Amino acid sequence: GRVAQRCLGASFLSGQSIRAMSGAPDVKLLIGGEFVSSKTDTWQDVVCPATQEVVSRVPETTPAEFQAAVDAAKAAFPAWRATAVPTRARVFLKLQQLIRENMEELAASVTREQGKTLADARGDVFRGLEVVEYAAGIGPDMMGEMLENVSTGIDTYSIRQPLGVTAGICPFNFPAMIPLWMFPMALATGNTMVLKPSEKDPGAAMMLADLAQQAGLPKGVLNVVHGAHGTVNAILDHPDIKAVAFVGSDAGGEHVYARGCGAGKRVQANMGAKNHAVVMPDANFEATVAALTGAAFGAAGQRCMAISAAVFVGRGTLERYAPALEAKARGLRVGAGWEAGVDVPAHPRGNWLGPTLLTGVTPDMECYREEIFGPVLVCLEVDSLEAALDLVNANPHGNGTAVFTSHGATARKFQSEVDVGMVGVNIPIPVPLPYFSFTGWRGSFRGDLQMMGKMGAQFFTRTKTVTASWRDHDPNDAIPGLAGVG
Ligand code: NAD
Repeated sequence: GRVAQRCLGASFLSGQSIRAMSGAPDVKLLIGGEFVSSKTDTWQDVVCPATQEVVSRVPETTPAEFQAAVDAAKAAFPAWRATAVPTRARVFLKLQQLIRENMEELAASVTREQGKTLADARGDVFRGLEVVEYAAGIGPDMMGEMLENVSTGIDTYSIRQPLGVTAGICPFNFPAMIPLWMFPMALATGNTMVLKPSEKDPGAAMMLADLAQQAGLPKGVLNVVHGAHGTVNAILDHPDIKAVAFVGSDAGGEHVYARGCGAGKRVQANMGAKNHAVVMPDANFEATVAALTGAAFGAAGQRCMAISAAVFVGRGTLERYAPALEAKARGLRVGAGWEAGVDVPAHPRGNWLGPTLLTGVTPDMECYREEIFGPVLVCLEVDSLEAALDLVNANPHGNGTAVFTSHGATARKFQSEVDVGMVGVNIPIPVPLPYFSFTGWRGSFRGDLQMMGKMGAQFFTRTKTVTASWRDHDPNDAIPGLAGVG
């Protein structure tokens, strides 16, 4: 309703009925606290994947508009940086409340533009909400260190200061969560930001930006620009932007990392994945079948932590699992995200791909080498835990992995020796809460400091180290009547 009207220019969501559509509104830019229409002549349709209806039109931000967004962020920085840490944090305390109040409208936008089920869309918002909650308590992450008496009467201490104008570049698969991975951490630590949502589904990011304004963000602290590669390159090349957070594909991330670092910026880039589940012969059968089905086919496999490769260890293990996996997969219903239990023929123009199970897969096959990013589980077989570890560790990606076993020693060896940054033990999608950081490794990440948690706060701050000597001063000099006494 109202949130959508402000940032999209027309009512297209009622919160109750997400099917009622009237025209395709233009998505606004947020510059200096105002939602403004772009003057561009290049527009891209935002399309509902279930129906092919045009939900809205997204502009390719013009160079002048982009410069205005950066200028607004730069102008807002000194006052925002000087705002007390708890005052900044309270904006996020308020924002988490507003997100809860608008949960259904946000989820409806995610489903409409991205296609996932409403339950998954609520999860998309909720996992982002947890970062907002974390940002509301950012104080401890901004603390420095101190050592008294590094020399007689001399102390050294470090303080963490924000960087200035930062930027966030988002993918299409989590339209609410990923913007919320970025701007709360950047802003709570005292930076300002220019955010670029995915050009495929910018609606949820716009609502979140609007809610952040309502929560009390001063004008210009958060700005939103739109577009595809041209806008990304403008971010990477702009000298006033000091740091870039990116989430997306390998091709996008490698480009952003190389060009952004080349321009002297800090970059954290979360990229693609091929997440392996290793199934030991002693795993709990029913629980493992359920975990693999949900993790491989849920949200159409469009999660960067989806399980896309299952490695069955030992002779006969895959034969035991394949019929149960197939039966479970056949039981899944494919349909529009907002409809419980409605079949595909209801939306003949939609984009549909049923759950797909591939057996007999070997590591040289394209279906194993590529990130399919769809509801596809490729099944491989090896004869030992060591061979499973070799396979997982030889894959270029290192985002997430899981082992299914009932033996603690097996789990411990796996957790210790696997060359992957997030590990599940009998947990298929081990995404950590934001108290931790999101720690993809190797081909799934470029940069050093990762998103959220302490590392997230470190990414958006730099350390200043002060060494101070006050030893030549007699404290009594400053007290009238005491000077010279004693
Ligand atoms: P994408 O790389 O196509 O797009 C991401 C963003 O980068 C968009 O804003 C897009 O405009 C921009 N972009 C893409 N290619 C570019 C280029 N060559 N030059 C300049 N800008 C470019 O990714 P997507 O398809 O939207 O998202 C899906 C991908 O994201 C999958 O590979 C998935 O694994 C990955 N992903 C990773 C994580 C993670 O945390 N590791 C999380 C979510 C998604």
